[in-house]
Amino acid sequence: MRVPLVDLGWQHAQIADEVMAGLEDVMGATAFIQGPQVARFEQDFAEFCDVAHCVGVSSGTDALEMAVRGLGIGAGDVVIVPANSFIASTLGVIRAGAQVRLVDCDPDNYLIDVDAVGRALTPDVRAVMPVHLFGQAAPVEQLSAIIGDVFIIEDAAQSQGALRHGRTAGSLGTVAATSFYPGKNIGAYGDAGAVLTDDDGLARHIRNLGNWGSPQKYHHPVVGFNSRLDTMQAVVLSAKLARLAEWNKLRQQAADRYTEMLRDDENVVLPKVLAGNEHVWHLYVIRVPERDRVMTAMNVEGVGAGVHYPIPMHLQGALSFMGHREGDFPATEAAAREMLSLPIYPGITADQQEEVVEVLRRALGSNGG
Ligand SMILES: *Cc1c(COP(=O)(O)O)cnc(C)c1O
Repeated sequence: MRVPLVDLGWQHAQIADEVMAGLEDVMGATAFIQGPQVARFEQDFAEFCDVAHCVGVSSGTDALEMAVRGLGIGAGDVVIVPANSFIASTLGVIRAGAQVRLVDCDPDNYLIDVDAVGRALTPDVRAVMPVHLFGQAAPVEQLSAIIGDVFIIEDAAQSQGALRHGRTAGSLGTVAATSFYPGKNIGAYGDAGAVLTDDDGLARHIRNLGNWGSPQKYHHPVVGFNSRLDTMQAVVLSAKLARLAEWNKLRQQAADRYTEMLRDDENVVLPKVLAGNEHVWHLYVIRVPERDRVMTAMNVEGVGAGVHYPIPMHLQGALSFMGHREGDFPATEAAAREMLSLPIYPGITADQQEEVVEVLRRALGSNGG
């Protein structure tokens, strides 16, 4: 690919020396699990997200499950989740033994549809999971206004550094889960994630859950599992965290460039930023007619356009037990048919972006539109 969908090489070049030195320290000290670098990163990331506690875990998927379990949500409870998200948003709820209730998205910004949440509320709903999709925060305060004492579990996997009315994604609900999958705005060199919360007791409980349910060595009052952030990943993440604000700015500049270039193209529906949001552009998602054909044509020309996500959650085999069918969530289904993610990452050049747009125009033009 001349312009890949994501290129992590530029990021690595910025931090390579620091990471190598940090990894040598870890190997010298052999504190591979729960070394001091983990606590340092957790503290710094909590500060970055403006929350009291960050608990490092093994992945974003684990972080979601631990957030659900940490709140004591399980059998007999319902959690409302947007159908327009990555499948992982539902997995933690299901694995915790609770029931998922899906709702549609806002057709303009693809975020959870607040009115649909209002219609889906029943007395057995214990939590709502707004997903801060593509790098912008869901309207959490609008949810708070209608849900009473129902918990908000944020899926902040795609939104590190995003702001909603000046407040950081991950600090807007009761608890948040985030992911450090390599391609996320802050990515590890492997799998990693974190749970964020202001609640001291919840943070302690979740930390114990990830440590075999053990508040004290060889004492296991609850059924836990093994899910921790390892020391080597903490070294990488600290190096990236120091640059995250600057790298998010580069993503914003790249997004502005696409928007400027594509503004007048009548075949392209541009991404919309919800009022009150500062977007960090994890993905730059447009809508085009004949999406699959356009994407293939771009891929053939060396541009790594992609789709997030081609098969909506409610039509996945894993969730077939819920009995959904095509037509249940029209906004999500329309988005899945038309959305196209253009390459975006810190380090993408103006020349590369011009090439992306040129190739996109050529692909669109050939459909006669
Ligand atoms: C990446 C992602 C996850 C899962 O994170 P992993 O670290 O890959 O387990 C969950 N939700 C959303 C919205 C994501 O983008």
